[in-house]
Amino acid sequence: MMVGKYLKRCPICGGAIRHTKTAYVIGRVVVEPELEADACVKCGEEFYTAEQVARAQEKATKLGLWAPRLEEERELKQIGGSLMISIPRPIVKALGLSPHEKVRILLTDKGLSIVKKK
Ligand SMILES: [Zn+2]
Repeated sequence: MMVGKYLKRCPICGGAIRHTKTAYVIGRVVVEPELEADACVKCGEEFYTAEQVARAQEKATKLGLWAPRLEEERELKQIGGSLMISIPRPIVKALGLSPHEKVRILLTDKGLSIVKKK
């Protein structure tokens, strides 16, 4: 959770706050091994300031953690009640997709994913 500086009480459970060092992790990569943070003694929630998060995110961008490997813009087309997108050729090639192949469409907290079936 991101907060302003120097909390006295946990905004979630009201527990005491202790200053600590913690690892800031995105996915499975440790971006900052020792990020200073406030942590709740009771529920364990960690609190970072905007500057700390900005610094960690800048580092993550430099590490290429957030850069999409391929990105293209597409317009949605309507087919009945569904919407359809075409998959751009570079992505078709990168995934080795072929017509009539079945893929899985997943909605996750990171957005929409299309996964090739094995
Ligand atoms: Zn708490």
